[in-house]
Formats: sequence, C-alpha cells, structure tokens
Amino acid sequence: MKQSVAILGATGSIGQSTLKILADHPDKYHLYAISGFHRIAELVDICLQFQPEVVALPQSHVALFKDLATQKQLKQLPALLVDEAGLVAIASAPEVDVVMAAIVGAAGLSSTLAAVKAGKRVLLANKEALVMAGEIMLAEAKKSGALVLPVDSEHNAIFQCLPQQYFSHRQQNKQPQLGVSRLLLTASGGPFLNFSLEQMQQVTPAQACKHPNWSMGQKISVDSATLMNKGLELIEACHLFAISEHFVTVVIHPQSIIHSMVQYIDGSTLAQMGNPDMCTPIAHALAWPERISTQVKTLDLFEVQTLDFCPPDLDKFPALKLARQSMREGGTAPGILNAANEIAVAAFLQERIKFLDIANLVDAVLQQSQFESTDDDLNVVMAADQCARDKAAQWIRQYGVQ
Ligand code: NAD
Ligand code: MG
Repeated sequence: MKQSVAILGATGSIGQSTLKILADHPDKYHLYAISGFHRIAELVDICLQFQPEVVALPQSHVALFKDLATQKQLKQLPALLVDEAGLVAIASAPEVDVVMAAIVGAAGLSSTLAAVKAGKRVLLANKEALVMAGEIMLAEAKKSGALVLPVDSEHNAIFQCLPQQYFSHRQQNKQPQLGVSRLLLTASGGPFLNFSLEQMQQVTPAQACKHPNWSMGQKISVDSATLMNKGLELIEACHLFAISEHFVTVVIHPQSIIHSMVQYIDGSTLAQMGNPDMCTPIAHALAWPERISTQVKTLDLFEVQTLDFCPPDLDKFPALKLARQSMREGGTAPGILNAANEIAVAAFLQERIKFLDIANLVDAVLQQSQFESTDDDLNVVMAADQCARDKAAQWIRQYGVQ
C-alpha cells in the first residue's frame, strides 16, 4: 500500500527536497496534496510532475494558478482550497497518511496542529510551531496518536541516537531518561562565525543568506547567521525529547558533518553523521522505522579529515542566550521570542534594521513583555504572538529605517 502524502510548503526548500525523495520512490508514496504561498508557477510545475488531487494556495493567487495551468497545459486541474482553511483541510484530510509540515514561521502553526490533531504521521520541519505551542502540540499528539517525527537535521540526528523506546516512554518530568545524560546540539556557526562584532555590524542580507554548508529558505538562513536558529532548536529539543534546557549543550561544529549527539551515563557519546543534505533526515522521517535510499553522497571520512568543535560565543550571538532564557522562563516567553524574531528578520531582509539589531529588538520585546502560562490554550499563545509583533513593529518605527 502506498502512503499518501501532503506537503505544506511544497514550493520551499524543504518542500523541494521532499519532492525529490517522492520522485525517487513512486512505488511507496503518492503525493495527494500540496500548498504554496508565493511561487505559483512552481506550484503548477509540481502539479505537472506529480498530479496531486488537491492544492492549497492564497485566494488572491487562484486566478494566476488557473492561467498558468492553462498555459502550461496541465491536463487535470486539482481541487483548489484557499487560505488558512485550505491548509488545515489538507493537513487533516482523511485521504492523507503523512503530512510534511514545511511552512516557515508562525504561519504554519494552525495546519501543523491540525495534522497532529488528525493523528497523522507528521514530519516536523516547521520548528516555529513547536516553539510557540510545544506543550499543546505534544499533548494533542498523545490524544490523537499522531507520530511527530523530527525533520530538523539536529533533532533527527538525536532521534536516531536515542534508544528506540525513548519516544514512547517520554515522560514530562524533563529529566533525561533511559541512561541518557545530555544532548549535544551541533551548530555550524553560520556565515559570521569568524567575524568580529565590528564586522557583523555592517553585514548585508545577501551575506547573511549565504550559508557555508546548507542551502535553505531566507528566514532560516538569517536565523542561522544570528544563531537564533540554534536557540529555536534548543527549545524544539526540550519539547520533542521532554528534557530541560539544562541538559542540552550547543556545540559549534563548522563542518556540519555530525548533525548532533546523545551522551549516556556510561560514558558513551553517539553521533549521527552525513553530508549536509536535508534529504537524509526527510527520508529517515518518511520511512522510519525502515530506511529508504536517497541521492545524498555517502560520507567520505578521508575527504572530510577533520572535525572541529568549540563553544558558542554568546557575546557575538546573544540570540542563543535569549532563547535559552525564554525556555527557562517557559509559558508564553518562547512564543514572544519567536514572534519578535520573525518581525526582526523580515525587517532586516528589507534593510530596515541592521543585522545586530535583530537580537537587540528581540531582547527589547522580551523585556517589555509579561510572561504567562499558556494553560494549554492556543488563544493565549496567539494573543502573546500578536502582542509581541506589535511591540516589535513599534521598535522598528522608533529605531529602524522607515
Ligand atoms: P522556505 O522559505 O524555502 O519555504 C517556506 C514555504 O512556506 C514555502 O512553500 C512558502 O510558500 C510557504 N509559506 C511562506 N509563508 C507562508 C504563509 N504565510 N502561509 C502559508 N505558506 C507560507 O523555507 P524552508 O527553508 O523550506 O523552511 C521551512 C521550515 O522548515 C522552516 O520552519 C524552517 O525553520 C524549517 N527547516 C528548514 C531547513 C532547511 O534546510 N531549509 C532545515 C531545518 C528546518
Ligand atoms: Mg537544524
């Protein structure tokens, strides 16, 4: 029996890597539904190649989609669902077994949560959704029986290095379980690892988006350059593996060959390694507990030769410190951090604020905010998100370029 797949964010970087794997395994997977937000011509191209039954897109792009479909001679027009309701519908459609949650940012929260509530196998790339509503998401997964599998390369690596029972026996006491003592979350350090603070003051969006090892969407590329990505991943790890931030260490490893590690009480450290290509964790999550082939080049250790490690410099990369503090704080704090960061990154990409202002802005918004318990209530999460966005916009009006 083929597995029926929906890709939320099919036109993005993770979406494209997922499509590559599906194209390699037509005997195992059927692409039932896709969504796209901007690149509508590419959305039509995916339809030409895979003929999905359903497409979710913004209402404002429906006419363009139909025009392009005619121009490109798409034989069968898929059912078109629109806006957030369309995303939620494909995420929870009874025809779907597997949902790839690969929308960027808070925009992916409602559909990712819908997939979890509907008990799907959820391949989780959309880390922001977990940062905002981790407790709600995992509680819902418990109720529905959804299998939430990490696609983020670090979390996928940790998942591979943990004992198999860890996930099912995961308890909420935040202490490491089953002989695990610590998680080591690796980070490349991004394009500015060896820049001085002075040099970092002047960097451009183009420089920030040019990651040394990974090819990714713009937002996560900027997050990797500030190390906010590692901060969000620290929070993601705490939720996914039910562990306190105290047991998660960030390790700078510029080669991105070790994707993360798990340490055990007997002195063992297990690492998952591979060439940096998201097809590996996507294929792993798609097929788990089986393995399927990918076109990723097998690691040649003679070519790699050296693996370097060092601790992160928190003065140069304060975003990581802010993320850890917000996780310690708990409740709405991580969601506020995330919302402020999303606004800050967008403003940096529009050259309205400087690179180092991203962390300054997030810090200012956190300082102006009061944190409360989410009480597993999504309304509380969404209200805190909106309030943080308003504060961030205000900061930009005050200190940014208009
Ligand atoms: P991307 O920018 O390349 O793609 C984002 C996708 O989301 C696109 O399909 C876009 O159309 C869609 N989208 C954007 N705004 C939307 C909105 N408001 N409503 C609905 N859809 C919208 O991003 P990406 O690099 O593929 O990252 C996607 C997610 O995966 C992010 O959460 C990122 O942190 C995570 N992730 C990415 C990588 C990577 O290597 N790219 C690795 C680990 C985790
Ligand atoms: Mg990652």
